[in-house]
Amino acid sequence: MEVREALDILKDNGYKFTRKREMFLQLFARERRYLTARDVLEHLKPTFSGLSFDTIYRNLAVFTDLGILEETELDGEKRFRFSCATSGHHHHMICLECGKTSAIQACPMNEIQSDDFFITDHKFEIYGYCQECH
Ligand SMILES: [Zn+2]
Ligand SMILES: [Zn+2]
Ligand SMILES: [Zn+2]
Repeated sequence: MEVREALDILKDNGYKFTRKREMFLQLFARERRYLTARDVLEHLKPTFSGLSFDTIYRNLAVFTDLGILEETELDGEKRFRFSCATSGHHHHMICLECGKTSAIQACPMNEIQSDDFFITDHKFEIYGYCQECH
C-alpha cells in the first residue's frame, strides 16, 4: 500500500481528504510496521495538539475496513500496519522488538481438515526477531 493508493481508496469510498488523514497515512507508510493507537498518538501529537484516542480509533477502524490497514492483536493491544503489497490471503512473521513484518504466502489451513466444525476465520502469526533486532 502506498499513500497515493490509500488516498484514492478513501476518495472512492466518499471519505473526505483531510490533513490529519494524510498524516496518518504518511506515518504508516514511513514506519512499515505494526503500530498501536498510542504510537500513532505519540507521532501525531506534536502536529495535532488536540488529537484524541477517539479520533485515532475511528480513523484506524475506517482504514482497516477499507483494506488500507491490516490489524492484529498482540499482548492484548490492537496493532495496525499498512497493508502488504502481497495481494490475497497471507500471514505474517512479526518482529517482537521493532514490529517489522514480512508476509508469508503459505497458509496452515491448507493442512487442516474439519468435518464437524464449520470454520469461518482463522489467525496465524509467527513471532520472533528480525535480522536487525536479533
Ligand atoms: Zn499483510
Ligand atoms: Zn526487528
Ligand atoms: Zn491462512
